[in-house]
Amino acid sequence: MRIGLPRALLYYRYGRFWECFLAELGAEVVLSRKTDEEILARGLAAVSSEVCLPIKIAAGHLLELADSVDAIFFPRMNWLGDKLFACPKMIGIVDVAAMLVGNRVKLIAPIINGNFMSAHLKAGFEFTRDPFRVSQAWKKAKSELKNTSIRSDHAQGVRDSTVGVIGHFYNLGDDFIGRTIITTFRRCGYDIITKEEIPDDILSRDNGFAKNIRWIYERELYNAFEYLLNQVAGFCVVVSMGCGPDSLVAEFMREQAQKRSVPFLLLVIDEHTGEAGLVTRIEAFVELLKRRKMPRLARMTAL
Ligand code: SF4
Repeated sequence: MRIGLPRALLYYRYGRFWECFLAELGAEVVLSRKTDEEILARGLAAVSSEVCLPIKIAAGHLLELADSVDAIFFPRMNWLGDKLFACPKMIGIVDVAAMLVGNRVKLIAPIINGNFMSAHLKAGFEFTRDPFRVSQAWKKAKSELKNTSIRSDHAQGVRDSTVGVIGHFYNLGDDFIGRTIITTFRRCGYDIITKEEIPDDILSRDNGFAKNIRWIYERELYNAFEYLLNQVAGFCVVVSMGCGPDSLVAEFMREQAQKRSVPFLLLVIDEHTGEAGLVTRIEAFVELLKRRKMPRLARMTAL
């Protein structure tokens, strides 16, 4: 069976696991190509203009795959752990997928209600009737769930040349959205750290303000921000236009950063965000960071 995996949303967290799991079950995995203008255009034409950019992009990937595979694997993440929910748009995109491509291709969409493993074991029976093969596929693939991006220097204290770039994995992980942001900071001489480089036990903390956040991935964003608050020169927070959870949590981050006089740049992205605009805003922010690094006397001379 040729099975399509849309390179969007949860793919950027669970993609390596899914590729391995499905291959172990005997499927031929077909990954949609990297996001480009054409994929975006297909998504824009298919879903409401009100939804966020990553959902539009996901719709484009689904349509891209629909004509070339026998089925599309597109799990529905409802909630995990202590009833921490995915956002309603991320849950709802699976229903949208059924409407968009359901009449052309089979949609395999295991529902994750707290238990990631059982949802996948159940889905395994779509590929084989052999329970041993399903459990072996799970065992082999689960090592891919381990985050291999964690930096060993993540807790080194204040770093004057590092910026915390806080954003969802499906935004920063997708080059079409995140590459300009990341490369501009690096070109300007700044290292960046993202939440994907911070250990899971820190991202899943449930004390303080984070306890009130009931969205899985927003809690991770906030915990990453709080953890880095005294470690980086400033923050660049990337939020999607039209995203309720992002806007609420980002506002709270901004307040916290202001209280501690930590420079804070909020980038709101959508399909109209141009590369030049992003670069200009980041370069201006970097200028601010550099001025703060200069000794007081040098700063006065520069003025
Ligand atoms: S959390 Fe925000 S950016 Fe992510 S899918 Fe939901 S609405 Fe879109």
